[in-house]
Amino acid sequence: MPQLITTRKQLTEAQQAYQRKKIALVPTMGALHEGHLSLVKIAKQQAEIVWVSIFVNPLQFGPSEDFSKYPRTLDNDLKMLEDLGVDYVWSPSVEEMYASSFAKASSDKEPLIQANPELTNKLCGLNRPGHFDGVCTVVKLLFDLIQPNVAVFGEKDYQQLMVIKEMVSRLKLPVEIIGAPILREPSGLAMSSRNRYLNEKEKLLATEIYKKLFYLSSLKQITELDLTKAKADLENLKIRVEYLEIFWNKILIAARIGSTRLIDNIKRSI
Ligand code: AMP
Repeated sequence: MPQLITTRKQLTEAQQAYQRKKIALVPTMGALHEGHLSLVKIAKQQAEIVWVSIFVNPLQFGPSEDFSKYPRTLDNDLKMLEDLGVDYVWSPSVEEMYASSFAKASSDKEPLIQANPELTNKLCGLNRPGHFDGVCTVVKLLFDLIQPNVAVFGEKDYQQLMVIKEMVSRLKLPVEIIGAPILREPSGLAMSSRNRYLNEKEKLLATEIYKKLFYLSSLKQITELDLTKAKADLENLKIRVEYLEIFWNKILIAARIGSTRLIDNIKRSI
């Protein structure tokens, strides 16, 4: 059973109990699912001490986004981590997380770390202004506090993975970033905490997103027309496509079903 750590004082005490061990961190916002657990399993292979953080970071949510209704299921999350050999779960309050001088300003909605605009001037960055600055700020703070040698992030949030890798290299942070493959439901739907917002009908509809990505990934060449047509097909099914684009040799999509925003991506075949 992992030890639950909620204050900086407990965090320091926990760190004193181990010295010079290899540490891995898996940052999450909780409402854990198998996708998160797959990251934990990778972390376990990489290090002697494994931390999972569970923190819904207000800085990365826009004013009209789902911060207050984001699912918070800490007791269940701890149960899910029970048998995975996680040593510590860091789950502070917002005040405790942003208590240092580093982050005081950031809790007042001024992220202290800027993501590289060249990576955020597209895809999710366009529709979620400031989102990646909020992500960078919290991830940098997590690294400062936990001091991991390795941190595992999912390829599900591929733009986020690129942004974090760039931040780590720009700030010369002493942490290795490992990208982990996307875990999917048997239907193909990428696992996500936000899938909880979907009813059965919407969940079924959401599988069309993966089906479309899979189809596009099978094409030898993808033209603008293919993307436009795929978008129109999804829109016809009442899936509102925010973007469907190609970067980093991936086909990436963000789409809404009802008010639920889902993202996914797939490798392009060449
Ligand atoms: P979140 O709690 O949504 O912030 O996600 C925490 C971490 O889990 C991020 O690095 C995500 O990319 C990763 N993750 C979320 N869903 C999946 C999935 N289906 N497969 C693999 N990793 C995932």
